[in-house]
Amino acid sequence: MSAPTLDQFQRQVSELLLRHRSLLDVMSKYDQTGSAVNRAVAKAVTECGCIELNAKKQAYSDDTDLTEAQSVLQHHMNGQLCEQCNDVLRAELGRNLFYMSALCNLLDINLEEVVARESDKCSTLGLFNMR
Ligand SMILES: [Zn+2]
Repeated sequence: MSAPTLDQFQRQVSELLLRHRSLLDVMSKYDQTGSAVNRAVAKAVTECGCIELNAKKQAYSDDTDLTEAQSVLQHHMNGQLCEQCNDVLRAELGRNLFYMSALCNLLDINLEEVVARESDKCSTLGLFNMR
C-alpha cells in the first residue's frame, strides 16, 4: 500500500464530498471524529489495558533548564498499544484526517502547505515548541 501525497488525498476527499458539503456538517464531523480518537485511546486504557495511565504532577519548574526538562518530563503512560487498539486508533485518526481535509477543501486551504509551514516552524523553534 503506497501512501498518497497529501494533495492526492485532499483531492480524493473533495471528490467524495461533492454532494454533502455543508460547512456546519463538516465542522461537526471533524469535532466528532477528534473525540472518537480520544475515546479510542481511553478504551485502550480502560477496556483493553494494553496501555496504562500513570499521571502525577510534573517535576518541572521555571528553573529547570530545557534539555534537563526533557529527561524529567513524563508521558504519564506505560505499555504499548496492542495490534487491535493500534488498528482502531489508525482508523479513527484516518476519519479525523478525512474531515480535516474536507474542512480545508471548503475553506480553500492546502493541507500540504499546512504541514510544510508547521514543519518549518518546528525546525525554526526546535526543542520545546510547546503551546
Ligand atoms: Zn489494546
